[in-house]
Amino acid sequence: MGKEKLGIYIHVPYCVRKCNYCDFFSQTFSRAERSPAEYFRCLVSDIETAGTIWRGRFEVDSVFFGGGTPSAVEPELLCGALDELGHAFHITEDAEISLEANPGTISRKSLEAYRAAGFNRISVGVQSLDDGVLRIMGRIHSADEGLEALKLAKSVFPSVNADLMIGTPGQTLDIWLEGLKRVLNEEPQHLSFYSLQLEEGTPFYEEYRTGKLELPAWEENREMYHRGLELIKSAGYRHYEISNAAKPGYECRHNLKYWTMRPYLGLGRTAHSFIDGVRFAEKPAPGPEDAAEDRDSLRGDFIFTQLRLIEGLDEGFYEELFGSSFISDFASPLWELFAQDLLFRPSPGRVAFTEKGLDLTNPVMQRLLEEL
Ligand code: SF4
Repeated sequence: MGKEKLGIYIHVPYCVRKCNYCDFFSQTFSRAERSPAEYFRCLVSDIETAGTIWRGRFEVDSVFFGGGTPSAVEPELLCGALDELGHAFHITEDAEISLEANPGTISRKSLEAYRAAGFNRISVGVQSLDDGVLRIMGRIHSADEGLEALKLAKSVFPSVNADLMIGTPGQTLDIWLEGLKRVLNEEPQHLSFYSLQLEEGTPFYEEYRTGKLELPAWEENREMYHRGLELIKSAGYRHYEISNAAKPGYECRHNLKYWTMRPYLGLGRTAHSFIDGVRFAEKPAPGPEDAAEDRDSLRGDFIFTQLRLIEGLDEGFYEELFGSSFISDFASPLWELFAQDLLFRPSPGRVAFTEKGLDLTNPVMQRLLEEL
């Protein structure tokens, strides 16, 4: 039998400028506590340590460099870290190796360097194709630059994701659909379309709290989502997660590990890992203070992550992990949610959101969690 599979996430905590909605851990270069060169020296040493601990048990079938803005640092640093991963771990032949890129920080030369180093998938932060919307969001690039970056990425990488956002200030249904059509014309293999979340501590959160930020109404946000999905599906993409769609075979293997609770190791500042039911952060292996989480908190995580899949939560895997039946454990809320047409069973052994349920994901999940 082959080794178990592991996904590895590498956090690159640098951005040219902070966007107004973002609460990911990243710093601008002038304010960074450490230079990228120093940061990557520590990272490489963590990669070496992680390799000695996990290499005997796992082989790596997905790697994801995220941030922050990986493409904002010198390509040599990213390529060097990937090279080190290749020494420390066995990376499978068919591994998915992704990096995130901001359209304001890439060139053909840098993309070719990533590709030559072994990256085979790139996620381009297009976000919107409207200059007004991009300006309000605080992005460093224009709509044209976003589209150019997507074209460039497509010409160098075999697998490209376009990251888009819905429900942002200044966005209307027309602006969204128009931008989406232009992105679809470029035929990226994968699309992400998250709704804007107001995160505490961000400029948007403060502006909203003080009544200075106007967002599209909830109904309009939902219309953007459903009308956008119609276009996406009719262009041949499979909607496989609440906010993600892919051409068949291009689903993001790395993110699927998060949504299905398979093992992953995160290295770098604020990066999280999940192995054997234990969560730990910012280090190659759990320490004495990192105990396996209790059954209820893992069951809560299972619902939160697996229900994000359009094919639904896997009852068989639930039973394998927790030793009881999902349907019996959550019988009372489930019948209620089935009767309200918010959840359904798309196939034997699966429970999923209905079309109507996709608009009410948080309250539905909350209702299930009350049962824990
Ligand atoms: S570029 Fe990405 S990570 Fe950096 S601040 Fe903007 S959204 Fe956040």
